[in-house]
Amino acid sequence: MSAAARSVASGDYKQVVEAVGPREVQSMAVAFNEMVHQVQTGQQMRRDFLANVSHELKTPLTSIQGFAQALLDGAASDDEAREHAARVIYEESERLRRLVEDLLDLARLDAGQIAFEREPVNLKMLLESVVERLAMRAASKGIRLENQMPEISTIIGDGDRLAQVFTNLLDNAIKHTPKDGRVVVRGETEAGWVSIHVDDSGPGIPSEDLSRIFERFYQVDKPRRGGKGRGVGLGLAISRQIAEAHGGRLVAQSALGKGSRFTIQLPIVRPDDETLVQPLKESS
Ligand code: ADP
Repeated sequence: MSAAARSVASGDYKQVVEAVGPREVQSMAVAFNEMVHQVQTGQQMRRDFLANVSHELKTPLTSIQGFAQALLDGAASDDEAREHAARVIYEESERLRRLVEDLLDLARLDAGQIAFEREPVNLKMLLESVVERLAMRAASKGIRLENQMPEISTIIGDGDRLAQVFTNLLDNAIKHTPKDGRVVVRGETEAGWVSIHVDDSGPGIPSEDLSRIFERFYQVDKPRRGGKGRGVGLGLAISRQIAEAHGGRLVAQSALGKGSRFTIQLPIVRPDDETLVQPLKESS
């Protein structure tokens, strides 16, 4: 076991020790194997993350470079072609800006560098303003966007960050719901918790993807997605982290062909409560 520990210390993580000998040694061996497994998983996640970031940066950069080149060497020869090239460059750089913003957000959340406000938040009012901002987009797609949020307890939290979560959930719902569909915000309180549901009448999410959509960069049908407005798969990861920083959680349910429901649950904390915002560690 000590030889294996030394190997791990020098960077060789492929170590498994056999759980034999006295009980204490056995349980130590089990703990050792668990630790090595965790380190390996962490390393794999870091590698995947880097590969994803590089890929997401490379795709827009390649088209920006290609279209800029076309403008420079005159391959975009008429006004229409030049306008098209400029538009692609604009849209792709916009996409890069959003990606970098999301990455910075994640890095700050990970490092615990974001100081969350602790202010009374009236969820009904907050949702009204978020829904109002997205109303035009929904209407232009012929989607009925309804806010059925009841007047429920004020919670303590960071209004701007919660607005970011609701914007992301509603934005996704509108994006995935077809014409003439419906997106509804509902809310309820139960035993010290408030739940806010965002329901859509979109295509739903396959059950094998449902537990993974909160992972960084995970997108259902990634290879087939494309075009303007496509995301990078960071929104739900960020939203879940914000929910957890409020001591709450974010979960999804879905029925294929019927629609999806995203629910954020937040604890109702008394405004005078000093014990606060302990992240609730849970996934899925
Ligand atoms: P993005 O929207 O940038 O792709 P998100 O993290 O917000 O990233 O969402 C991850 C994935 O979850 C999306 O790519 C999509 O496949 C799926 N998804 C999210 N919300 C919905 C929804 N309301 N209906 C169907 N699929 C959804």
